Amino acid sequence: MTALPSVAPATATLGILGGGQLAQMLALAALPLGVRVVVLEPDPQAPARHCAEHIQAAYTDPAGLARLAECDAVTLEFENVPVAALDYLRGKVAVRPGAELLQRSKHRAREKMALQAAGAQTAPFVSIETVNDLAGALAQVGGEGILKTAELGYDGKGQARVQSQAELLGAWQQLGGVPCVLEGLIHFVREVSIGVARTPGGQLAYGPLVENVHRNGILRRSLYLPHHPSAADLTSAQSAAAQARALAAKVAQGWQLEGLMTLEFFECPGGELLVNEVAPRVHNSGHLTQDGGGVSQFEAQVRAALGWPVQDFMPLLPCGMVNILGWPEGAPQPDYAELLALEGVHVHLYGKENRPGRKLGHVNVVASTESQLRERLALVERLVP
Ligand code: AMP
Repeated sequence: MTALPSVAPATATLGILGGGQLAQMLALAALPLGVRVVVLEPDPQAPARHCAEHIQAAYTDPAGLARLAECDAVTLEFENVPVAALDYLRGKVAVRPGAELLQRSKHRAREKMALQAAGAQTAPFVSIETVNDLAGALAQVGGEGILKTAELGYDGKGQARVQSQAELLGAWQQLGGVPCVLEGLIHFVREVSIGVARTPGGQLAYGPLVENVHRNGILRRSLYLPHHPSAADLTSAQSAAAQARALAAKVAQGWQLEGLMTLEFFECPGGELLVNEVAPRVHNSGHLTQDGGGVSQFEAQVRAALGWPVQDFMPLLPCGMVNILGWPEGAPQPDYAELLALEGVHVHLYGKENRPGRKLGHVNVVASTESQLRERLALVERLVP
């Protein structure tokens, strides 16, 4: 285990592959623990550059990787870490999560097979590698589906909804004829997610079960409500959380997770949770843990990556999050003056240039009761178009 926090100026150094907003927030959570962060990120405007040592170089740059190899451990903020970077770091420094887990989670078909092997259910799916795989694929997944590129898709990009064989062929060609998975369309009641951290010694810790609402394939809003004994839906809410934890534990143990990962689920009408996808890192839906009063998902990833003890990263109060997404020219912008005037509202900005649909920041909302939270969230949603 890396040395634990002490009064010394810095007890540990954590390397991060990637320097975006997730790295920025990981670095901010690391700082008070005496942990210094080094990020490897080619973008000169990397959001993390103001709170971490920024090595501005390609992810495969030998000098940059050599600097990361001097750290006590390396973690990441995105799943598509080039294999060459992982090969370079192998044997020099612990990368958490490790190469094997990353290989699984960056490829949708491999991920689904590994999820099923670990005991979790997914949507029905067919791997599409060549044009021949299209025949009969739609029927196999239930007649209606979503075609997704096997790699590099995020926030609803690289996917298309299909209802006929002709649409399937057209969509596959539109996606460039690259390897894809065709998933059956799930008529879910809601989407939920949970984070799980696991130390190299096997200690597990969980985040809250968060309910997520997407707009155009991008997360718009997340919500966490602690269980209240008088809640009418206590049984179903509790069982969803218990089910999510049990599945997260199975996958974290089965995949020998070291670090933190987030599972996104579809909740089916009967209450069953199907895993949609796994992110081998902190996740947008966990941002509300920053202001809910408990340990944040960012601190949990820092601790797990360094091999330090972890604890559940659970908010103590009802809380929610609204994403600030980039707007087209001339469209209304978030009203920061109004937002900053609201009680229980925390604005987090990433310092990125505006581009339509781009994640530019988020607003966390915290309240002492569910009704107060819902009122505040409604206000925030009006101020963040
Ligand atoms: P993804 O990039 O896979 O997370 O997909 C983005 C969003 O599209 C999800 O959060 C869902 O809202 C929707 N979606 C993706 N896959 C499916 C599916 N198989 N059935 C229904 N909705 C889906």
